[in-house]
Amino acid sequence: MVQLLEVKNLDKSYDGKSYALKNLGFAMEEGDFIVLLGLSGSGKSTLLRCINRLIEPSGGDIIFEGKSIIPYKGLQLRQYRRNIAMVFQQFNLVKNLSVLTNVLTGRLGYHSLGSAFTKQETELAMQNLKRVGLQDFASRQVKQLSGGQQQRVAIARALMQEPKIILADEPVASLDPATADSIMQYLAEINKDGIGVICSLHFLSLARRYGSKVLALKDGIKAFEGLPVEIDKQRFKEIYGEDAEEI
Ligand code: ADP
Ligand code: MG
Repeated sequence: MVQLLEVKNLDKSYDGKSYALKNLGFAMEEGDFIVLLGLSGSGKSTLLRCINRLIEPSGGDIIFEGKSIIPYKGLQLRQYRRNIAMVFQQFNLVKNLSVLTNVLTGRLGYHSLGSAFTKQETELAMQNLKRVGLQDFASRQVKQLSGGQQQRVAIARALMQEPKIILADEPVASLDPATADSIMQYLAEINKDGIGVICSLHFLSLARRYGSKVLALKDGIKAFEGLPVEIDKQRFKEIYGEDAEEI
């Protein structure tokens, strides 16, 4: 397998005293669908934000396609970020704009300031809307869509980057279970098309169904790394604490 991403001895402290991530290491191969588990506050969002350099790690290294991304600045950082798309719990769409316009904004990393979207980009946007089953919704305003549909718009927007990795930060936490499952299916299809996924989730059931690997954090430290099927009762308690029950 070809290694896509490697996180080595990663530390992140926001205040210089306590650590949100401590000495974290894992590797991602092409084709991986990594599910990130852990209680609220365990460091999941911090890890995802370090990977696309939305925040600066305090120590350690992040290697993408064989090169450390830590020294990247300016154009090099922008070029790196094209490879790494993000999907958020709250969708982060511009609600008063059309679906198509929102999807096209996923292309901004390829544009110099003020340059217009091309015909090819509009065609790509329509293709990506088709991938998430929303080709008939292009001219709708986002605010007229349901939560699940909005998350599909956000996935289409992420695809506009032509990313190698999608980082999804609790993408289904605001959705009902059936809608959540359908969003996970779209992510799984995209993963089959060759895009690596790292997705934080609340529910172990979804981790079992969709993850090719699980990485679990507890207080910023790796609590488990392995296959979803390896998470038994004992491991579950190691990740979530003695009193936790699976729902
Ligand atoms: P999760 O996504 O698993 O809920 P986070 O990565 O958001 O966890 O948070 C990990 C730890 O870092 C928590 O203790 C949280 O309070 C702290 N933290 C997160 N973001 C910030 C921030 N911007 N400034 C200071 N502390 C933060
Ligand atoms: Mg979070």
